[in-house]
Amino acid sequence: NADAAMYHAKSSGRNNYKFYTADLNARAREILAIESQLRYAVEHNEFVLHYQPQVDIASGKIIGAEALIRWNHPSLGLLGPLHFIEVAEERGFIVQIGNWVIREACRQIAAWHAAGLPLITVGVNLSALQFRHQDLVQVLSNALAAYQLPGSCLDVEVTESVIMDDMDATIQTIRAIQSMGIRMSIDDFGTGYSSLAYLKRFKADKLKIDRSFVRDIPDDQDDTAITRAIINMAKNLNMQVVAEGVETIEQWSFLEEHGCDQVQGYLLAKPMAAELVEPLLRQETLRPPV
Ligand code: C2E
Ligand code: MG
Ligand code: MG
Ligand code: MG
Repeated sequence: NADAAMYHAKSSGRNNYKFYTADLNARAREILAIESQLRYAVEHNEFVLHYQPQVDIASGKIIGAEALIRWNHPSLGLLGPLHFIEVAEERGFIVQIGNWVIREACRQIAAWHAAGLPLITVGVNLSALQFRHQDLVQVLSNALAAYQLPGSCLDVEVTESVIMDDMDATIQTIRAIQSMGIRMSIDDFGTGYSSLAYLKRFKADKLKIDRSFVRDIPDDQDDTAITRAIINMAKNLNMQVVAEGVETIEQWSFLEEHGCDQVQGYLLAKPMAAELVEPLLRQETLRPPV
């Protein structure tokens, strides 16, 4: 990629060449720095999981949470996944990081349960590399066994593009995952491939409507139409449907009115450290502020 950009830069003139090389060098240095620091982070366990509650619209009950990784960087502080997941994926660290995420989520679920809180389902995001890795099913089953949890405590989130990449392998992997009782969600639904044929070929448990569609409801005609269509399709195919990125009471009301099952978003709670989620789990319900 860098080579291609360099080639393009070279062919488009002397000044541009200088400009692009400076730019590329900066980017290359940045990637190198992140890469070596990431290696250290993996070895020294500098990651932490934050959790964002998912709530059943009708009852207000907290039915689970999504685990979202943060990097507790020694000098830069808490970094969100957008700062490092891509490099981690490119360099292959993501498999090791992702395996830690699965295990850590299981540890936390068990710890909450041991502290007298309800046994909840935690969603973990799987990267493409991780989803294609031959050890994935074993890693999932080992993590559940280590903390004596049923499969229903985990919900794996993958995007459409990951699913579409190699259908036959995808179907096998999803079957193996679901046969352990683990749920399977399609993340950022609607932003990936437009082909819906794959929804017939295996049964996902849940569709997560991408935040980009939720953002402008109920004002934007197109987004309301798309959101309603996704909700209806999910219902008709017997899947659960959750809206991501719900920030306003107007969005909540629209989603409730149109039969969306669950919501996740800043309106209810931001992703937060495990100890801050605990009181919410204790109270068991979470309703939008009035
Ligand atoms: P995602 O799986 O779609 O996660 C939802 C993202 O939306 C999270 O960003 C969350 O903080 C954010 N969000 C939730 N509610 C709201 C809201 O009401 N408003 C706004 N503006 N944002 C909201 P975050 O934590 O920065 O994660 C970004 C992405 O990084 C995730 O998107 C996921 O694709 C990836 N990611 C996070 N954790 C992991 C992980 O453990 N492994 C892998 N492979 N990817 C991860
Ligand atoms: Mg997700
Ligand atoms: Mg998403
Ligand atoms: Mg996303």
